[in-house]
Amino acid sequence: MEAQGEPRLSIKQIEIGPMANYTYIVADRIERKAMLVDPAWDISALLAELDEEDLELSGALITHHHPDHIGGDFMGQHIEGLAELLSARPCKFYVHQADAPSYLQRHLGPSVADLLVAVADEATLEIGCVPVRVLHTPGHSPDSQCFLVGGNLVSGDTLFVGSCGRVDLPGSDPSALYYSLTEKLKTLPDDTVLLPGHNYGSELTSTIGKEKRFNPYMRFKSLDDYLRAMGY
Ligand SMILES: [Zn+2]
Repeated sequence: MEAQGEPRLSIKQIEIGPMANYTYIVADRIERKAMLVDPAWDISALLAELDEEDLELSGALITHHHPDHIGGDFMGQHIEGLAELLSARPCKFYVHQADAPSYLQRHLGPSVADLLVAVADEATLEIGCVPVRVLHTPGHSPDSQCFLVGGNLVSGDTLFVGSCGRVDLPGSDPSALYYSLTEKLKTLPDDTVLLPGHNYGSELTSTIGKEKRFNPYMRFKSLDDYLRAMGY
């Protein structure tokens, strides 16, 4: 995929798994270093893809802890996901600090504690020489975070094309999502490319400008209007 904003940046969107998740390979194509966003499904295929592209894995960016994004128990089966990645090719993985200890308890075990990096809102990471800005966007889950790289927003389950993440799950907070959408994501430049965590519509990507115009969840005038529409 043509990635906006950084000449050395490439981003590959891969639809993967039974929930139409998107994993992304975000790379510095000069340094040949890459990070995987939300590696939960078909880890061997993702690693083969990195090898084919001659990219060295330098980390995993985690948008939030739900099992369709990192693995774990999901619809009666256990998915190795991130755990498989870390044992096949150990690398740092970046999770929001709000929920960091639970990653080890719930999903991964203490053996990968050295690889976990708990990040805060507005942290800056690097893939090779490409900077990645972390935006904490709670609401769908307390640890939801988006990654701004070049002019591209990797949004996890916070913002979808034409929609937004569910807020009826354990740990969800509808008010927090409203503020994440209206006070954080809505303030990004209109030409920011939206790279969501699932394929839930006819378009694979969008822009913040389009979502501000057409996505109903970006258009509520007040928290009360939003909560009423969401059934609260
Ligand atoms: Zn989720």
